[in-house]
Amino acid sequence: MSVDKKTLVLATRNQGKLVEVKRMLKIHAPEISPISMTDLDIADIEEIGSSFEENALLKARTVTQLTGLATLADDSGLSIEALDGEPGVFSARYGGVHGDDAANNAKVLKMMEQIENRTASFVAVLALTRPDGQSLIARGELVGQIRRSPIGDQGFGYDPIFQPEGFSITTAQMSPEIKDSISHRGKALAQIAPRISPFLSL
Ligand code: IMP
Repeated sequence: MSVDKKTLVLATRNQGKLVEVKRMLKIHAPEISPISMTDLDIADIEEIGSSFEENALLKARTVTQLTGLATLADDSGLSIEALDGEPGVFSARYGGVHGDDAANNAKVLKMMEQIENRTASFVAVLALTRPDGQSLIARGELVGQIRRSPIGDQGFGYDPIFQPEGFSITTAQMSPEIKDSISHRGKALAQIAPRISPFLSL
């Protein structure tokens, strides 16, 4: 693996998110060569912040310090209106086990059993850091409704129970291209992508 000025570390070990971010970077910032934490053998960083912004910055800063390379980190999750924003920063481990998507979906459906207001948002915050301590942040949101049962096998996480506003299908029933064009991560990435090369001073 060669590392140069165009190298950008993607600070996530979540395969679903990696696939999406790499796919979108190819379109929005094709000059950048992304590598992942798995390529560099860096373990997951504990998310101890109380907001998506804090966690994204914490992850990006830690990886930049460990590698000496510019880093793009994402913190994202589901925020449900009737549950005061839960699962929020706990989205990846809401069901008890980190990354157990089926358990997370089951817990949301259980918590929402008696609730009529199904409005929720996917939120993604991207943080870009470089070794001199400078950083950039972008935030994207996608509003929708929580379904009463899961459907669809594309995507990851809460996709099978999340139906975006204006659609009659879930994000797990969408082609990757359609999801990218409307998603929280797509919106945040479209904002930050044109700023990556100037930020790396290319
Ligand atoms: P983290 O950003 O690694 O803390 O994990 C965020 C969690 O939020 C994921 O494990 C998913 O459960 C959920 N999530 C974030 N983005 C999406 C998405 O695009 N679709 C479905 N679930 C998502």
